[in-house]
Amino acid sequence: MTAAPPSVPADVLEPFRRAGGRALMLGHVHPDADVLGTLLALGQALEARGWSVTYGGPHPAPGVLGFLPGIERYGRLGEVVGPFDVAVTTDCPNPVRTEGLIEQARRSARTIVNIDHHPDNRRYGDVNWVDPSAAATGEMVYDLLVALGAPISPAIATNLFTAIHTDTGSFRYSNVTPKTFRIAAELVAAGAQPAVVSERLYERRASDALRCLGETLARVRVSADGRFAWLALPAGAVPDAFVESEELVNYPRSIASVRVAALFREEQDQVKVSLRGKGDVDVREIAARFDGGGHPNAAGCTVPGPLDRAIGDVLGAIETALGDAPVALASRTPGR
Ligand code: AMP
Ligand code: MN
Ligand code: MN
Repeated sequence: MTAAPPSVPADVLEPFRRAGGRALMLGHVHPDADVLGTLLALGQALEARGWSVTYGGPHPAPGVLGFLPGIERYGRLGEVVGPFDVAVTTDCPNPVRTEGLIEQARRSARTIVNIDHHPDNRRYGDVNWVDPSAAATGEMVYDLLVALGAPISPAIATNLFTAIHTDTGSFRYSNVTPKTFRIAAELVAAGAQPAVVSERLYERRASDALRCLGETLARVRVSADGRFAWLALPAGAVPDAFVESEELVNYPRSIASVRVAALFREEQDQVKVSLRGKGDVDVREIAARFDGGGHPNAAGCTVPGPLDRAIGDVLGAIETALGDAPVALASRTPGR
């Protein structure tokens, strides 16, 4: 039994129907579980059909995702060495988020397949499948594998389950639908272990991580009216591995009155900004003002430093976006 009748466009299925070939699974910057889980799952399904698959992207996988089956095959790609029949991107709304690798892939791959759930996807592939109703790209790749008749091995199930688990905040955010749970159920039936995934994601902190967390939480600031809150991390304040293993923006977001939360991470001369909303403000529109993007409730952008100026600029945009909207009860929460 399948979780739902898959509605995968024919042009998406077509490049994967051949019995064998060469595929590149290309990740986005600072890869998360949605991009890694889907690239690994699709790659493993193709390998089972005799394909040869290369995995990589502009940055290596974070240590916390070291449990994803097959992750040792994924690494930083300095350059794309083809030829490939297909190059696949997942969860990657625009070419910039491959740091130029997609342009190299374009030269060495016959077909670029772009599979994504970001509403602002730029449709840069030869084939583009964009479904903003999907909570995670993991849901889409599950449908793709079912439509291809590919067996869901325990490894594939774990990869896709983790993709969906993280992009839904452990099945808590407003992007969760009945279909999310149906697919998750099928993945658990196929061998994904929810308790193991949760333990690997959330209960393997380094011994000094709670001290880091305590120091970091002391940096949370809340606006005078309580409608927005932010957390700013100067360069070197805490180890990168700590920041990458925690969804720190969730702490300012967790305050009851907060409608918009922001995390500012200073990196050399630029500042990476993560924005989260609770439904009454479209944070993607705020990010778009700074050439960023994302989802209505979870977005990001990179702005020039120094940190104080970046904070001032982005908080100004948040205040403008909030306008005179009254503090309302949360109706929606973010997804990625
Ligand atoms: P993050 O806050 O990094 O977890 O990202 C949240 C969402 O915003 C994800 O869907 C990202 O794809 C998107 N996003 C983050 N940074 C950028 C950026 N610089 N440009 C476009 N989208 C971004
Ligand atoms: Mn992602
Ligand atoms: Mn995603």
